[in-house]
Amino acid sequence: MAKLLGTPHWQCCSVHLVTFLLLIALAVDFFGYNYLNLKSQNLQSRQAGASLAVREGRGPQAMKLSRVVYPQPDVLKAPRPDVPVLTPWLAPIVWEGTFNIDLLDEHFQSQNVTIGLTVFAVKRYICYLTMFLQTAEIHFMVGHRVNYYVFTDQPDNVPRILLQKGRQMVILKVQSYARWQDISMRRMETISIFSQERFHREVNYLVCVDVDMKFRDHVGVEILSSLFGTLHPGYYAIGKQFFPYERNPQSQASILENEGDFYYTAAFFGGSVPEVYRLTKACHQAIMMDQANHIEAVWHDESHLNKYLLYHKPTKVLSPEYMCHTAEECIWFQNKRGLSTIVKRVRFVTLQKNMSYIRTDEGSAQTGSEKGNGSQPYSSS
Ligand code: UDP
Ligand code: MN
Repeated sequence: MAKLLGTPHWQCCSVHLVTFLLLIALAVDFFGYNYLNLKSQNLQSRQAGASLAVREGRGPQAMKLSRVVYPQPDVLKAPRPDVPVLTPWLAPIVWEGTFNIDLLDEHFQSQNVTIGLTVFAVKRYICYLTMFLQTAEIHFMVGHRVNYYVFTDQPDNVPRILLQKGRQMVILKVQSYARWQDISMRRMETISIFSQERFHREVNYLVCVDVDMKFRDHVGVEILSSLFGTLHPGYYAIGKQFFPYERNPQSQASILENEGDFYYTAAFFGGSVPEVYRLTKACHQAIMMDQANHIEAVWHDESHLNKYLLYHKPTKVLSPEYMCHTAEECIWFQNKRGLSTIVKRVRFVTLQKNMSYIRTDEGSAQTGSEKGNGSQPYSSS
């Protein structure tokens, strides 16, 4: 027993040594834990920050989130009970009252987006540029970075407009064609070439519009999406069998009687650069194939655009607020379709054209006031 109780000297030393080592181990453990803990917290905060990181300068930086106070979305009340706000494939249809522009502006500003606006002003259509650009400066993508891409055969005659900060104009020379139909259709080819060559480096989104138009009210980032089309005001709320789609089965643009969603205008479409590239390239190739077969679709590039958007559903659809007619007979048609009550804001409008002056068709049989087969109530875009 005593043996058991008694503690020899060397045993006493080893107990101290073990205690000492234990203390060291505890200390290492404690500080080590705290060090690792701090490190992992750091990692966690960095991971949390990662979702908010923005690419700015060198390396990711935390994005400052400013508070935006806005009305709570109401789950019990439709934003617009009088019009559809979603397509059957769940793409938003953009109407006044369906979006909060402050919220969207904040989002797109944080992404630092640049929007390219393509417009063609060939031959006499150059006369529309001043009005187009002046009104775009007031209403189009205000507060965002904008590149105007003006395609023309007369760069020297492009009006020099004083632009707001963050906006610039790029004048690009294109060839002219004898027929206005070819000028209109070749836009698809030009946009596809420039998308591949430079737009993808310079802008995030492309908005492609007619020049014989003016902005009358806000057109902003609410329109932006991967691929968007605009409802033609003349064919809103009518059966698809009455849409002026190309019906010739030999044409690449042909759409059968029982097919179709909407009738989209060629005067206003767009999306991300890769999507616009795909659309314009496909339409151009289809136009060229038709040409090889001596076929021209009834509404030219618009017929091909409609075919493309039938098979590649747009991710956003703009209501006719974004394309309204101002000509008397067109207003009459619009009202007949109930558009005057459902269009709360007239944002972008067509201008009345003096066709015999503006369409200087060399070698074309069709110089009249209507394009296509002439049986439509009014010009398609
Ligand atoms: N365009 C042009 N010069 C022409 C014909 C057409 O610059 O001689 C361009 C212009 O941007 C125009 C678009 O092609 O807005 C479509 O033509 P238009 O506006 O005449 O078609 P519509 O609106 O009648 O469908
Ligand atoms: Mn037009």
